[in-house]
Amino acid sequence: MDQSDGAMQKLMQMIARTQQQELDCGEVFAVLDLYAEALLAGENEKEQFALVVQHLDLCRDCLEEYEALLRVLETKH
Ligand SMILES: [Zn+2]
Repeated sequence: MDQSDGAMQKLMQMIARTQQQELDCGEVFAVLDLYAEALLAGENEKEQFALVVQHLDLCRDCLEEYEALLRVLETKH
C-alpha cells in the first residue's frame, strides 16, 4: 500500500491538472515550435510548457510532429 501511495498521488495531481486545462492538438501545434526552440536554446521551459509536455505524453500524433520539428531545427542550428 505504501509503495503505491506516491504514484497514486501523482496520478491524482495529473488528473486534476488535466481537468483544469487540457490542450487540444491545435493548441499544442500552435506552441510546438516555441517549445522546441526554447529547448534547443537551452532554456528551461518545462514549467511553462507543462501542458504541452503533458499532451506529448498522451498524443502520439503531436509527439511525432514535435520530433520532426526538433530534427528540422537541429539541422538549422
Ligand atoms: Zn495532439
